[in-house]
Amino acid sequence: MSAAVRNPQPTTLDSIKRSLVALRMPRALEVLDQAMRRIEQGEIDAIGALDHILMEELSIRENRRIRTALLLARLTTIKTLAGFDFAFQPSLDRNRILALAELTFIERAEAVHLLGPPGTGKSHLATALAVEAVKAGKSVAFSTLADLVTSLAKAEKEGTLRERIRYLARPQLLVVDEIGYLPVVPGGGNLFFQLVNARYEKGSMILTSNRGFAEWGDIFGDPVVATALLDRLLHHAVVIQIEGSSYRLRQHADLVPEHVRSKALINPPPIAKRRGRPPGKANSDHNVG
Ligand code: ADP
Ligand code: MG
Repeated sequence: MSAAVRNPQPTTLDSIKRSLVALRMPRALEVLDQAMRRIEQGEIDAIGALDHILMEELSIRENRRIRTALLLARLTTIKTLAGFDFAFQPSLDRNRILALAELTFIERAEAVHLLGPPGTGKSHLATALAVEAVKAGKSVAFSTLADLVTSLAKAEKEGTLRERIRYLARPQLLVVDEIGYLPVVPGGGNLFFQLVNARYEKGSMILTSNRGFAEWGDIFGDPVVATALLDRLLHHAVVIQIEGSSYRLRQHADLVPEHVRSKALINPPPIAKRRGRPPGKANSDHNVG
């Protein structure tokens, strides 16, 4: 019997494994044996194996970081630029969106407005840009205007408005989705203004709206607040107007056979309801014809 079998010496491989455990690199540990086999088979050399092991560990950490940051940003529905069909929205300049995806607007603390009718992809694009920002390591927060105003109003009631605004002023990018779908509660415009003012020239924003700027007075229920908001939000701003049809409706239209679809578009609904007549008394109708 050889000495090695009686008293096995820890190998270099064992030592590497212990180090990986101590360094908390579980993925590297997992792929180590596989990398060793590939070395033995002459597929890669030692330096290649080292690179492979480290890249595996790094990519798993990076994915974990992104997943956590997406949750923190409240980006629950993930949309990507790759998943956006630019051909469907010809009024939209693809290059402008791709330029925004370079994220320099975040460094410049600019506001990006995405305007357009419902279903034209405003939230999709806002989310996709926010996801790009998260991937690039930027701090991001995503909210609808209604949720944002609710949280500010709650903080005000609890006497913590200052802290709340400071907290919301911190992320490098704040996405405010759905401006104009719901009227803002009384006082909400003022609260939102305080936040916008706190972020002005410090942090960037993406805002989506189905209404034009001229309607902000109605949305915020106060033309003075609306003017002050737009003053800040249009100063260093990129405005992207989408003039197209709804992607949501396109999807529905695809489910409807062509002959029904064209008929539905041309003709009004066949059964016109008569007002003030109780149901089930159709036989009393003598005016037909
Ligand atoms: P908006 O916010 O303008 O009302 P959304 O961004 O919510 O519209 O879009 C509605 C749905 O259609 C979403 O599921 C979105 O991912 C999808 N969508 C919209 N436009 C496109 C597009 N051009 N390509 C792919 N998906 C799209
Ligand atoms: Mg939307």
